[in-house]
Amino acid sequence: MRLAPDMNARFLPAAAGAPDAQPDGPLPSAPELAGLVRASAPIGLPAHLQAVPGTLVSCRLPTRFGEFDLHGLQDPQTGAEHAAMSLGRLGDGEPVLTRLHSECLTGDTLYSLKCDCGAQLEGGLAAIAQAGRGLLLYLRQEGRGIGLVNKIRAYALQQAGADTVEANRLLGLPDDARDYSIAVTLLGQLGIRRVRLLTNNPAKVEALQRLGIEVVERLPLHMPQNPHNQAYLQTKSRRMGHYGPDEPV
Ligand SMILES: [Zn+2]
Repeated sequence: MRLAPDMNARFLPAAAGAPDAQPDGPLPSAPELAGLVRASAPIGLPAHLQAVPGTLVSCRLPTRFGEFDLHGLQDPQTGAEHAAMSLGRLGDGEPVLTRLHSECLTGDTLYSLKCDCGAQLEGGLAAIAQAGRGLLLYLRQEGRGIGLVNKIRAYALQQAGADTVEANRLLGLPDDARDYSIAVTLLGQLGIRRVRLLTNNPAKVEALQRLGIEVVERLPLHMPQNPHNQAYLQTKSRRMGHYGPDEPV
């Protein structure tokens, strides 16, 4: 049975239609994979590559910070696709140096100077690489959870003089709509219950602890300010309770 691809749902039609999947089979070799790709019959993918929503799929990912394992997971509730990058053995019970990063297209990818997200993403990966062991969770909740288009609306209001909190409120949106329950799902699937959290945001520490993750230590992650993000960083610390660079850890 072949199913029509539904790219929006991010389901894998070949896996959904495969009658002969081998649940515990080894990874196919490169020649075997080539054979699978050529085959016109439904593909017998190994179980760990069948992208069932809510389960992790993983591969190696060389980066300029080192060679990480990249994990992907689709939230079965929302359909959002989240990522995690891990380095070293994590499921041994020892606390894991962890960074929870929420997607910021403008800062992570488009080189925006309006926030510190891109620098924090790089700083988090560099800290994990330096430690030789750790995890970065990349959660797809753009604009503190309000989405890209709403973030652009908020930026337009900020251009007219509002700060980040005022802009969200003018749009009738929450100051911070992020939800960390998917992070706990990701941590659970990676066998992690104790973390050393790289963050300036006490709300992240509280959220993880409330969801059953032990935060044994908070480590600051401050990045240099620039004229474009100075006011934003001050608002985060003044109105949103984030720790500033001078706060004791
Ligand atoms: Zn940002």
